[in-house]
Amino acid sequence: MRNQPHAIKLALLGTLSKGGFHSGEELGASLGVSRAAISKHIKGIQEWGVDVHRVQGKGYQLAQPMQLLDENTLKHTIDTKFALVPVIESTNQYILDNSSELESGFVCLAEYQSKGRGRRGRQWISPFGSNLYLSMYWQLDAGMAAAMGLSLVVGVALAESLEQLGVPGVKLKWPNDLYHDDKKLAGILVEMSGQAGAAANLVIGVGLNLSMAETVDGISQPWTSLSNITAKPVDRNQLAALLVKTLNTTLQDYESFGMGEFVARWNRLDNYLGRKVKLLIGNKSVEGVARGIDKQGAVLLETEQGTQSFIGGEISLRNNE
Ligand code: ATP
Repeated sequence: MRNQPHAIKLALLGTLSKGGFHSGEELGASLGVSRAAISKHIKGIQEWGVDVHRVQGKGYQLAQPMQLLDENTLKHTIDTKFALVPVIESTNQYILDNSSELESGFVCLAEYQSKGRGRRGRQWISPFGSNLYLSMYWQLDAGMAAAMGLSLVVGVALAESLEQLGVPGVKLKWPNDLYHDDKKLAGILVEMSGQAGAAANLVIGVGLNLSMAETVDGISQPWTSLSNITAKPVDRNQLAALLVKTLNTTLQDYESFGMGEFVARWNRLDNYLGRKVKLLIGNKSVEGVARGIDKQGAVLLETEQGTQSFIGGEISLRNNE
């Protein structure tokens, strides 16, 4: 089994996720360990960000219902090869580490990332079981220059998929975040694992908040979860499969047709279109009104010098109203 060192904690979560109270004695007996060991593993689970209650005389219960990702269900719904590694450092890192053996389209999914990451070494907070974390490997024949456009195209496709699921008001923040009501709902992180000839080997990581506890630590900006936007219950396995499918078809479309039609689709969803923003570029900043993106995937800013385009991995866009 994958994740052998975490087998007991994962088995415990399997039982607790079925709901109700479970005594330390019952859990210990079913897993062949002592009650003291169960108590220690419960602490470990709490360190993964899961809220577990203990009531004297009754036992342990999850504070919130949890639907786990299920390998068998995913096998029936995901067309490409994938690895479900419940506890991982980072799904992007898994692909980077294994890319020499992977085929384009391979996906890694996790329940918890201990070192989930954002751009430029920032952290992506990834508690167990409450969000989605997945990464796809993609060999982009068009090469590295096309990678910027690709990260924008993925944002458009994910936002549109959520819209089609009936989630209203999902927007995009350049270059690669999904927003709702000015709060971050999801992040996309595109990384390179090297270049083979002209092609670029890319990893496209997605973290989408589904029902993250409000008490989570470590996020220094407004954020939200799908559960705050729609009352419709979300099936995590179905949504994971939909995200994988969306990524796969979008990347193929991008390879065939380029940015073309994506520019208008991006601009329709731009969270900051017509709003005052500033771009942080190293230790400089440029202020202006956001005017969407161009065919290269650059962000357009109307400044006192006219409309200017900006592109590059070092640029961050901030609200400036
Ligand atoms: P930029 O505009 O340069 O992309 P950013 O702040 O959006 O800046 P990212 O690298 O895209 O940075 O994302 C990482 C940041 O997102 C973290 O520093 C944190 O503030 C925030 N963050 C981390 N985890 C989550 C999460 N699960 N949900 C929402 N926001 C998060």
